[in-house]
Amino acid sequence: MVCNAATGRAKTANAMPARYRLSPDGPEFSRIAYGTWRLMEGAHGPAEILDRFKACVDAGVTTIDTAEIYGLYAVEEAIGNALALEPSFRSRIEIATKCGIYLPCPAFPSVRSHHYDATAARIVESAEKSLRLLRTDRIDLLMVHRPDWFTAADETAEGLNSLLRSGKVLAVGASNFNTHQVELLNSRLDRPLAVNQIEFSLLHTDPMEDGTLDQCQRLRIHPMAWSPLGGGRLFAGGDPSAGRLQKAAAELSGKYSGASLDQLACAWVLAHPSRPVAVIGTNNTARIQAAAAASGIELGREDFFALWSAAKGRPIP
Ligand code: NAP
Repeated sequence: MVCNAATGRAKTANAMPARYRLSPDGPEFSRIAYGTWRLMEGAHGPAEILDRFKACVDAGVTTIDTAEIYGLYAVEEAIGNALALEPSFRSRIEIATKCGIYLPCPAFPSVRSHHYDATAARIVESAEKSLRLLRTDRIDLLMVHRPDWFTAADETAEGLNSLLRSGKVLAVGASNFNTHQVELLNSRLDRPLAVNQIEFSLLHTDPMEDGTLDQCQRLRIHPMAWSPLGGGRLFAGGDPSAGRLQKAAAELSGKYSGASLDQLACAWVLAHPSRPVAVIGTNNTARIQAAAAASGIELGREDFFALWSAAKGRPIP
């Protein structure tokens, strides 16, 4: 679906491309990425996971986002087992993963308390493990999952630089970094960060207001927006912001060819001038297809601001 606010009708030409190069020398990702944080809740077994990924690719969603920690360190292996069923499928997707969060659990018996570790040795060890579990010879994007307050930027950069030099990791990124942390790590890297993956949605607008997304524009990198539907909170009863957004989306729907709340919420994220990649996390194939169609919606200026006001329950300042 491609429709615009002026006519609400389908258009043949899409002003925004279906894919982005994340940074000037970074990888090319689809504008909607599929996140695998909740994968184990709704897909069981390698064949089902492979089918899910094929449905994503058919809908134009070729970027798969994962992390070492997802599913308590089980998701990367589940993805690898799915890809092993059809190794040629690897060339049709891009894989982004993350490292650096450790929790006490059977996968890490030596860990006694929840902590971050972005030391060079840990980053390299984690990436080697991701390559093995994902059954791939390359990671398109490796992100430091959270800023590690106990490790110097020189140390983190040493690990990321060595992975870039080896060609095992094609690009590096940050996740949940503030603007100062991005500047600091960039000052130590051989190749700058290709992305900052942050929480951004109508229910979490901070990055639009605290400089995070402005920095992405300045650096000419596309952010990746996680939980673009507020992690499902958008559909819940009892949340006043969600309730107002449900009403506002129902009022706008007709203008956008019957677009649903999830589509308008995705379109709102995609419309930000930093041009985010939206990382969706549904386990429902029809909802993946709906979100993919949202990348064809060109939200109008007044509707962008109207949805912000609905989320906040007040007019813009
Ligand atoms: P999301 O797309 O905002 O939320 C997905 C949730 O919303 C699912 O529980 C889904 O349930 C529900 N949902 C979607 N459409 C719905 C609808 N129409 N009606 C009712 N419920 C609906 O994103 P997310 O899963 O929170 O996060 C997406 C991805 O972002 C993760 O998988 C992960 O890759 C990434 N992430 C990154 C970080 C980080 O620190 N870097 C943190 C969190 C997440 P159904 O499955 O039933 O559709």
